[in-house]
Amino acid sequence: MTARIIDGRAIAAELRASVAAETRRLTTAHGLVPGLAVILVGENPASKAYVGSKSRGVVEVGMKPFDFHLPATTSTNELLGLIGELNNDAAVHGILVQLPLPPQINASRIIAAVDPAKDVDGFHPLNAGRLASGLPALAPCTPVGCIKLAKAVHASLSGLDAVVIGRSNIVGKPLVQLLLAENATVTIAHSRTRDLAGLCERADLLFAAIGRPEFVRGGWIKPGATVIDVGINRVAADNGKSRIVGDVFFAEAVEVAGAITPVPGGVGPMTIACLLANTLRAACMQVGLTAPDV
Ligand code: NDP
Repeated sequence: MTARIIDGRAIAAELRASVAAETRRLTTAHGLVPGLAVILVGENPASKAYVGSKSRGVVEVGMKPFDFHLPATTSTNELLGLIGELNNDAAVHGILVQLPLPPQINASRIIAAVDPAKDVDGFHPLNAGRLASGLPALAPCTPVGCIKLAKAVHASLSGLDAVVIGRSNIVGKPLVQLLLAENATVTIAHSRTRDLAGLCERADLLFAAIGRPEFVRGGWIKPGATVIDVGINRVAADNGKSRIVGDVFFAEAVEVAGAITPVPGGVGPMTIACLLANTLRAACMQVGLTAPDV
């Protein structure tokens, strides 16, 4: 069997087009221009690249970017001061602090300082708690993107056996909550899990968010399963340069799975598209409008 390749770039482009159409409608009908503040602290090259993509995405869908690039020496209090200003700025509907932060900054305090209504990353403990309680919440973008990719294959996830490898607050845990909300039967695995391969073999839906290159082997995958690979790992390439691979051994997995996301071009593009969708939603909620279903 050769798996269907789930084209994250195409699905993300459709989502961005829907967000752009709804943004135009809101601007025309209500004079509302959703604004997203993106804060980068320091010079981490990967973070700079992500922030650049996010800001370009904001402009492309007709939203207003507010970009802040702070020095690597910024203190927790200085960053808290900026977040306080943005929380009170009515033109800013979403606030994103690019992680990781330099070591002198207390990341938990920063995440908790963002107004939950503007928390478009969905990392604030209030939003995490609302998501876990089945209440409406701004949910983290990467897991939301994973669900959309799985639903591009399965009209319904109800009753499917899902295995999520990874229990981070950013990906694994919120993904579990979103899968439960879709009525999947969910198992979450991590570094202490026994017989990971045996667990994966039972999964109709397998999500890998581990951060270990090509860790999940083809032999672990149930024939016909849908595999969503969240991993982004830079490894040495044969030509002496580097290349990006996922957490799944793609060449093996593609022969067993029914559908699989490539890396790059799978989950990655969905994350920014879902961020824009969250910003649209946050803007609508803040001015008392019903958020469009994009
Ligand atoms: P974390 O490092 O925060 O979490 C990794 C998880 O994997 C942990 O729960 C860890 O378990 C688990 N793990 C580590 N080793 C093993 C093992 N041998 N067996 C089973 N589980 C293991 O990573 P993130 O969740 O932040 O990111 C995961 C991957 O997703 C990374 O490659 C990252 O780059 C990528 N990513 C991609 C995004 C995108 O937009 N496409 C966005 C965010 C992340 P334990 O808790 O026990 O330590």
